[in-house]
Amino acid sequence: MTGFDFTTDHWYVNDVPGDPEQRNVRRQVNGAGWSPVEPTATAGPTLIAHSLEVAEQLGINEDTVASDRFARVFSGNELIDGMQPHAMNYGGHQFGNWAGQLGDGRAIALGEIATPDDGHAVLQLKGAGPTPYSRGADGRAVLRSSVREFLCSEAMHHLGVPTTRALSLTLTGDDVMRDMLYDGHPANEQGAVVCRVAPSFVRFGHFELPASRGEIDLLRSLVEHTIRRHFPHLLTADGPDNPSVTDEAIVAWFQEVSNRTADLMVDWMRVGFVHGVMNTDNLSILGLTIDYGPYGWLEDFDPGWTPNTTDAGGKRYRYGNQPQIGHWNVSRLGGALHSLTQDAESLQAIVDSYSERFAQGWDRALADKLGLVDANVVRRREVAAELLDLLPLTETDMTIFFRTLGDIEVDEVDLTVDDTTLIEPLIGSYYAPAELTGELLERTATWFRSYIELSRTTHQTADARRSRMHAVNPKYVLRNYLAQLAIDKAEAGGYDMIPELLDLLRHPYDEQPGREEYATLRPDWARTRVGCSMLSCSS
Ligand code: AMP
Ligand code: MG
Repeated sequence: MTGFDFTTDHWYVNDVPGDPEQRNVRRQVNGAGWSPVEPTATAGPTLIAHSLEVAEQLGINEDTVASDRFARVFSGNELIDGMQPHAMNYGGHQFGNWAGQLGDGRAIALGEIATPDDGHAVLQLKGAGPTPYSRGADGRAVLRSSVREFLCSEAMHHLGVPTTRALSLTLTGDDVMRDMLYDGHPANEQGAVVCRVAPSFVRFGHFELPASRGEIDLLRSLVEHTIRRHFPHLLTADGPDNPSVTDEAIVAWFQEVSNRTADLMVDWMRVGFVHGVMNTDNLSILGLTIDYGPYGWLEDFDPGWTPNTTDAGGKRYRYGNQPQIGHWNVSRLGGALHSLTQDAESLQAIVDSYSERFAQGWDRALADKLGLVDANVVRRREVAAELLDLLPLTETDMTIFFRTLGDIEVDEVDLTVDDTTLIEPLIGSYYAPAELTGELLERTATWFRSYIELSRTTHQTADARRSRMHAVNPKYVLRNYLAQLAIDKAEAGGYDMIPELLDLLRHPYDEQPGREEYATLRPDWARTRVGCSMLSCSS
């Protein structure tokens, strides 16, 4: 049986006013939160990867996944009955500047469904053709960026980081022209579509746009939609059928969005993820990681690193700046909500609370990562702070370093040996171990001694300590060069590495004997290769 028996339930288009214009022409759309638009047919839809877990969550069985119809539907070549395809309208601050209307320029939501597990999902195709919001661009996406989005969405989920999901990756069969490095060398690339899945794709920019235009009714309907559908626990019920969205509910909701954003930043920092384009149009109102573009994974721990060459000048979206940018974005959202509630004081207090929320979360995450939750708090913070100062002094692989700490049997370490011998267990995490001499060696050894001494005070068995630490320090992450290897193969017509990586990243905290090659230092060739350490917004 190859069919889709979805229970459709189109929350967004039912709750939020739509654009009366039916023609798919690029324009400013005023007073509406979405426009009706259908995907554009393509020459040769072919499924090249899918996520088993997402298919199952949506109630799609494996026979259906294998059917031609699945490839046609999720590449935008066939509509299922009852769907209501649309593109959403939103604005955003890009790189710190107000950019006006942006909207879904190449994302088309097919519609929304009630999932068999009593959840709710929007099915959204990215790269399925132009929309009224496409501005000067083509509405398409290339294979390389689609492979990256597909793999990273699923990898983040399995790491326990809130994220939009990816159901499928299809080739369209059409070519797309891109100037990958924006340096005057356009070339044809293969087009692809990812079907993304989330309870909602509403962004901070959804609220900023009507606020900037003085469209208070639209702003109110977006806020009411979001609270009623996605934060129902915040409603003050003044009757079973008509719980109202009061000023207090709006304030409580903003507090929750601020908290979720701070918590998401803690998660990104914990696993070494750098989003790369944290514009307000790329921040989810649900606190999900959304819009995988020129993201990257920290290899050497460098707070100043950004994978995004488009951001190379100001490095606004560098690893170490993400928490502050989260804060800046929350304050932009607060500004937009000010048009709805006169309670400016509460909004400001929430914006101010962000820093403390992040600081507490990050403090706790570092304690977890270091296995020092039960240690003296003051000493634990000193040890953590010194480590964060130390790590950038020589290229140190973040993932390997923290994973290695969990494997050390702290009671067995001999603290009387010379510095070089002492730090031997850590040496596998350095890209240039020869640099560990003189002052750096001494400082590293001093840190390691105090770390071991403090760890001993927590009185954990080696096994208990290892399993607690390994549960927060992944062994396997989507290293930039691994994604690039999968892309190189896919561009040449071989798709095996995509499910292979997906399978690896399904269990990022497990040892997975036999797969250690995926957990080693980045190879030297990847240091400067485009796609591995440098990515542009071109996608
Ligand atoms: P991003 O920062 O990549 O999330 O995109 C910023 C804006 O540009 C969003 O409104 C996107 O929908 C739009 N956009 C990006 N690429 C394309 C494309 N190829 N065609 C149409 N719109 C696009
Ligand atoms: Mg975006």
